[in-house]
Amino acid sequence: MRAKLFWKLGLTYLALLIGGLLAVDLYSARVLRRDYIRSANDKLTALTNVAQNRPPRIDDTVDLHAWTKWMAESGARVTVIDRTGLVLDDSMHDPETMENHSNRPEIREAFASGSGESVRHSATLGRDLVYRAVRYQPPTGPPVVLRLALPLAQINFALAELRQRLLVASLVILLLGTVFSFAFSRIFSVRVGRLKDFSHRVAQGDFHPLPSERPHDELADLAEAMNETAARLDQTIQSLSGERNRSSAILRSMVEGVGVIDARERLVFSNRAFSEILGLDSTAIEGRPVIEVVRNSDLLSLIRRALRGEEGLGTDVTIGIVQPRTFSVTATPVQALETAASSGSSAVVDAAAEKPSGAVVVLHDVTELRRLERVRQDFVANVSHEFKTPLTAIQGFAETLLSGAISDPKNNRRFIEIIRDHATRLARLTDDLLKLARIEAGKLDLEFYPVGIPELIERCSETTLLKASRKHIALEIDVPPALPDVRGDPALLRDVLQNLLDNAVQYTSAGGHIRVSAAVDTREAIITVADTGIGIPLADQERIFERFYRVDVARSREAGGTGLGLSIARHIVEAHGGRLWVESEVGAGSKFFFSIPLAA
Ligand code: ADP
Repeated sequence: MRAKLFWKLGLTYLALLIGGLLAVDLYSARVLRRDYIRSANDKLTALTNVAQNRPPRIDDTVDLHAWTKWMAESGARVTVIDRTGLVLDDSMHDPETMENHSNRPEIREAFASGSGESVRHSATLGRDLVYRAVRYQPPTGPPVVLRLALPLAQINFALAELRQRLLVASLVILLLGTVFSFAFSRIFSVRVGRLKDFSHRVAQGDFHPLPSERPHDELADLAEAMNETAARLDQTIQSLSGERNRSSAILRSMVEGVGVIDARERLVFSNRAFSEILGLDSTAIEGRPVIEVVRNSDLLSLIRRALRGEEGLGTDVTIGIVQPRTFSVTATPVQALETAASSGSSAVVDAAAEKPSGAVVVLHDVTELRRLERVRQDFVANVSHEFKTPLTAIQGFAETLLSGAISDPKNNRRFIEIIRDHATRLARLTDDLLKLARIEAGKLDLEFYPVGIPELIERCSETTLLKASRKHIALEIDVPPALPDVRGDPALLRDVLQNLLDNAVQYTSAGGHIRVSAAVDTREAIITVADTGIGIPLADQERIFERFYRVDVARSREAGGTGLGLSIARHIVEAHGGRLWVESEVGAGSKFFFSIPLAA
């Protein structure tokens, strides 16, 4: 390319130079010839004037010859021709041997108008001449023509000489011109080549500016402008890539799954959360058809509706079979979207703004939210249910009393006692609920003290002993001496142990056995309440710690249980940094364990 430009420029200059020189040569030859003919004509006019003033005697051959000789001394050829074209005398040729001259243009013109001129080749002398002829009327006889001619040979000499000089000058100019034109075109093509290399560099992302060009001409201006463009491009690309990095960092770190799908239903962008949610390898999904990546039909149809331009789409979608998770999905159509380079296509911009060029889908994990919503709904239903039974009983018995039973000495006291029991149950239920609400709201004010395990067990056993003996259940306490203190809130720890002991008495039949024991390891103390009661089925063992969950609802209600005891106990134990768990076998009995960290 560079060589081509160099040769093109060089040869063009050379051709122009040669053309110019040829034009000068032709023009100067013409001018020279015209000037010479004009001056020859002037000279011939002067001579013909002389000839007319001193005309020859035509009828005297000797005088005519003498006159011709005299006139020829001026350097011109002199010819005298009569009316018929016969040459009467000639200074350069024998008139006897000369042909008839009546057809010569200058002679015909002279006879016709008095004078005539012509520049032509002389057939008599065989050379080029400038002729001027005038008509002369002798005193007697017909008119004759006096013709004078000057040769053009001199001009040819002068022209030849001029040409020679011109040739030498042209050769010198040509040589210098060639050197200069080739040198100039070489420099020019090198500079253009530099600009070309620069634009290649810019295209490949190298924005180092060109050194300033010399001399300061249009090419230097072009280089300057290209430098400026490259600098702007560099700046724009940097700010764009900064922007892009920021956006992709934000998208990457989002817990929500974000996917961008183009109009041809190809996934052009996705963040890590998106591929994790769909269980895909994040490195290989971009550019793939969305139908290959998204297997969930609800999600797929939502994406397709967004691609058709529907706005404000959102729904809950459950993904996963083993561990199903619920996602709140929103899909939004986007108007201008660039497809990823990986898909191998250029930017797709739907200028018509009619049909979207893609869609953005966002998946937000709401599994926990939905679970909590369910728990809340269940809780409200459970609470209402728990309140309903005692309230109905109170209402019923109160109405019975009012409608006359109050004066029935046999039943009135019993009815009032029933009302009191249900009211007590309601009060307990309310107490438990308040306690639970406080614990769950994190408003439980724990006051930690070193608590002695034997004292804790002893105080709770006192209350239990009475209940146990009434049911003929044996209570055994097995606490090793010199146990270290645990760190806890004494009142709350008592609530926990009391609840476990009450349950043990409650769910153990007469003749059973309850054993309270304690053991210590390096970090914590573990207190165990074991009974020989009805036991808990394996499937319910974890659920009994949920609010209101009861294995046998009727039995629990009958005993005044609320179904909240174990839930509260577990919360309290966990607030102490410990654990509460159960091991049980139906028919054989249950063992409840709770651990509390030791006081430092
Ligand atoms: P409740 O007020 O009904 O006792 P809890 O939360 O204390 O509520 O206990 C929940 C359920 O766990 C009980 O209804 C009962 O079915 C079961 N449960 C608790 N302790 C025992 C136990 N020692 N033996 C058998 N089942 C038990």
